[in-house]
Amino acid sequence: MSDFSSLGLSDWLIQQCKQMGINKPTPVQQSCVPAILEGRDCMGCAKTGSGKTAAFVLPVLQKLSEDPYGIFCLVLTPTRELAYQIAEQFRVLGKPLGLRDCIVVGGMDMVAQALELSKKPHVVVATPGRLADHIRSSNTFSMNKIRFLILDEADRLLEQGCTDFTKDLEVILGAVPAQRQTLLFSATLTDTLQELKTIAMNRPFFWESKSEVRTVEELDQRYILTPEKVKDAYLVHLIQKFQDDHEDWSIMIFTSTCKNCQILNMMLREFKFPSVALHSMMKQKQRFANLAKFKSSVFKILIATDVASRGLDIPTVQVVINHNTPGLPKTYIHRVGRTARAGRNGVAITLVTQYDIHLVHAIEEQIQTKLKEFSVKESEVLNILTQVNVTRRECEIKLESTDFDEKKEINKRKQLILEGKDPDLEAKRKAELEKIRKDKKLFKAKIQKKQDMLKKKKHQQKNEIKVLQIKRKKKTVKANN
Ligand code: AMP
Repeated sequence: MSDFSSLGLSDWLIQQCKQMGINKPTPVQQSCVPAILEGRDCMGCAKTGSGKTAAFVLPVLQKLSEDPYGIFCLVLTPTRELAYQIAEQFRVLGKPLGLRDCIVVGGMDMVAQALELSKKPHVVVATPGRLADHIRSSNTFSMNKIRFLILDEADRLLEQGCTDFTKDLEVILGAVPAQRQTLLFSATLTDTLQELKTIAMNRPFFWESKSEVRTVEELDQRYILTPEKVKDAYLVHLIQKFQDDHEDWSIMIFTSTCKNCQILNMMLREFKFPSVALHSMMKQKQRFANLAKFKSSVFKILIATDVASRGLDIPTVQVVINHNTPGLPKTYIHRVGRTARAGRNGVAITLVTQYDIHLVHAIEEQIQTKLKEFSVKESEVLNILTQVNVTRRECEIKLESTDFDEKKEINKRKQLILEGKDPDLEAKRKAELEKIRKDKKLFKAKIQKKQDMLKKKKHQQKNEIKVLQIKRKKKTVKANN
């Protein structure tokens, strides 16, 4: 493997890497840094944890040092936590430059952000929604001179998932100059490759990690087949086991909904486990505080929804537990990528019910690896089953007595208003659609019933004819005799 100087990076940057403990470039850095320094657009598809952030931070800093001005570089990323993480790498590596950065994410004071933007920071790291809001509402800053536009977790930014960024991206792309370098990075780029190619058009350099396997070798990937009702008992048992065996390990648990995340956190705390939650229904300050507590190992367990599945780099995470089997292989890849980072070992355990087996097959096909069974003493799990399930029920009741569902409804309405939709009208439309769907289903069932009856009748008639024919035959035989 070559060193950083052979990639064309300046001494001060190499020195800065050394200070961070980074001595040799990783493959994604080795391939992408020279192409970016050459002035080409770049699309990097690298395994999560393979050093892709530094692969764009280093060449941007080098170019910035040659011609420093603000706003020089804009980085877009799907989650607020990732924005802070990326800004941190810019800050540490760009320290000798006196780098000024600005983080623009939702849930934080908009006026303070606008003021910071007006001071022309070198680098802006943003989530698309909030930045688009600033562009729409303010003329105190300009991005028409940026040299670099970077889309981190680019496929997530472009896909139309639960948070659709496409409208905000349109606003942002309209505010940045056409003459720029565009860099796109993710662990799972290939699904949205065509759309991405329309964004990066300047002789794009495409780099994909050579290995067919989309997860790192250091990751031990396991599953536990369990009935739905025993899942929580397995979870509690696993945590107990890991905590007994490894005092210094941190565990990330992924679950599908904010509500389940909240309930699991309450439940684990009842069992005196040091856990915190992270999901999008929480206030932003609480989100950061919880993540900070987990990062500093004050709390060893983080229960999260997929807001935390991408990019977060927390070296102490040795275990990822999927409380639900992810519906999409790429969600699995991002989740398990929270451990076994930068050459370290890690284990990922997925709780699989009988209804999820097809999902596991899809995951295995995508990662080109078979998940192995994680062996557990079933008797130990069954011993705690009743206690765990009773505790969960108690936590559910406790949560129901708070206004969690109500808050969720309010958040949904807020989101619709922000999207320029009328929440009541949307609810009406949804109810109408639901009614149409129901009516259709009823109609289909009715027709099916009628068809079944007709079939039955026909069958009966056929039988009756047969009986008549036999009788007639018998009669004629008798008459002939
Ligand atoms: P990323 O894939 O950007 O999230 O990076 C994962 C981790 O790898 C981070 O903690 C980086 O500091 C670390 N890292 C980045 N580049 C290197 C390198 N060349 N050698 C060792 N560690 C690195």
